[in-house]
Amino acid sequence: MAVWAYECRPCAGAVDEVWWVARDRIDEMAPEVRLLRVQVGAHWLCAVVDRRRPVVVEGGLLREAVATDPADCPECAVRTMPPGERTMPSAAPHPAESPAGRPPVLTTAEAQVLGCPVRLVLVTMDLLNSPGEAGMLAVDLQPHFAGATVVLLAQDVDGTPHFHGPADWSDALARLPLDQLSWRTGSSG
Ligand SMILES: [Zn+2]
Repeated sequence: MAVWAYECRPCAGAVDEVWWVARDRIDEMAPEVRLLRVQVGAHWLCAVVDRRRPVVVEGGLLREAVATDPADCPECAVRTMPPGERTMPSAAPHPAESPAGRPPVLTTAEAQVLGCPVRLVLVTMDLLNSPGEAGMLAVDLQPHFAGATVVLLAQDVDGTPHFHGPADWSDALARLPLDQLSWRTGSSG
């Protein structure tokens, strides 16, 4: 099922990784909450939530999360502070904050389909429904993911995934465990 969610990014380490937390869950938190502990496997990792822009994701991609603050996170308390601001952790800009004017980023995941490396790229249903546009985008993206076949993925209103990829892969693609893939957001490449 498709649900509204917010994107969360780890405050340290692989900051291009993205986790999704249900918007309902985050709306319950105080409006100033920007740092979360997100459940990733057996761990609860510090992440920054982007509350400006809800996104639609498949329910299976959602993660549990609780509110936290920079004082609870050694990385946030030290790494994110420019020298001279080290006594005011809450005033520090966070590295995962996107600077304005950044080029659009792609949300992608690596997978294997019938033994072939594949790069899944999340797109809108509108784009996927337009065969010409989807085909052009796949061609444009292909050089950025050398060695992998680009497959576009969109979800319809009930969360059912739809793919744009090699026609004889449709059954294999439908079996992909989308919620178990490691989704990342970053510039193509
Ligand atoms: Zn942190």
